[in-house]
Amino acid sequence: MSGLTRRQILMGGTAIAAASLIPTIPKTPLTPQMRFMRDSIAADIPRPDYMVRLSSNENPYGPSRVALKAIHENMHLTNRYQADPRPLMDTVAAMNGVTRDHVVVGTGSGEILSTAGMLTGMRGGSVVCVDPTFQSLLRYAERAGVEIIRVPVNEALNADLDAMRSALRSDTSLVYLVNPNNPIPSVIDGEAMKEFVLEMSEKYLVFVDEAYHEYADDPSYKSMVELVAEGHNNIIVSRTASKIHGLAGMRVGFGYAHPDLISEMRWRKTGQNTILGLEAAHASYKDEEFQAFSLRKNKESRAIVYDMCDELGLRYVKSNTNFTFIETGMENEDLQAQMREYGIQTGRNFPPFNSTWSRISMSKPEEMQYFVQVYKELFA
Ligand code: PLP
Repeated sequence: MSGLTRRQILMGGTAIAAASLIPTIPKTPLTPQMRFMRDSIAADIPRPDYMVRLSSNENPYGPSRVALKAIHENMHLTNRYQADPRPLMDTVAAMNGVTRDHVVVGTGSGEILSTAGMLTGMRGGSVVCVDPTFQSLLRYAERAGVEIIRVPVNEALNADLDAMRSALRSDTSLVYLVNPNNPIPSVIDGEAMKEFVLEMSEKYLVFVDEAYHEYADDPSYKSMVELVAEGHNNIIVSRTASKIHGLAGMRVGFGYAHPDLISEMRWRKTGQNTILGLEAAHASYKDEEFQAFSLRKNKESRAIVYDMCDELGLRYVKSNTNFTFIETGMENEDLQAQMREYGIQTGRNFPPFNSTWSRISMSKPEEMQYFVQVYKELFA
């Protein structure tokens, strides 16, 4: 980078206009980097160590006001062990056309993934999955002695279902699919997915991770909860309150499956939800307005990043989630290090893609503008 200061780089036209709209000086002393960021984003920078988090696929707007109200109203009960998940279970069960005995609540969907990883470890054999994909279940199963058979995505960077069929072995016990996927935010065609899941579930346990379900806008996308509702067994679908509901720190997630499988998962899982998490999630699932708002903002943010990619001729994956995957042409670690200098945290490595691709989570549109501004100055 030349001898320009960060301030000089970012104090271009819109940044100067934005800076002139900032009336307040934050109370804490700001590092030069934070002052620079404050001048570029018309937002309050709350702490000197403030980072624009484009790394963990969170909702920058959450929790919703109704969730915060529920947390506030239940604080005084945290001296008790009582935390009844049934009202929340009834709500999400009804939303998905099943009954409460088809639902297990976990401390995040991460707990549902680990529990399935444990079950797989107990059964032994192998797991077939897409590569790259989300690792929690796979890591757990691998440590429990299960072999993981990773099937690379096809040229369109989507799951190759036929290659997965070919990768099955006589010892395979579980097939894992993340749809929409992570770190590549593509979806599998709904009809093809349904056929595949039904076929697999005749012989194997099938785990479909739908953490990003609410963000999927590809018309071909289908949730596999409908197969659970139809009474098929051997299928687990997970969802989470961590993403669109903005409750990642509250640790609430769900598994949907046949009641026999659910009761096995319930007694094997070891986490316990808190009353605050359960009440916040319950309020949030009933609050459609906040979800619609979050979706709209996420789309705005995605459009800002897509425009940059189009302008710079960078390949990217049309997202069905709150992140996108960009072929920057550089080592992800270099991108991470340079962005960090400007108070921006970007996604971790996803081997083998990290030699040229990076995952960028969506934050507020104004923060994505800032990301684009920095990216263009550094790399365009
Ligand atoms: N599944 C996928 C695909 C994810 O990306 C994540 C988190 O990023 C999770 C599951 C776990 O989320 P949580 O445990 O917060 O529900």
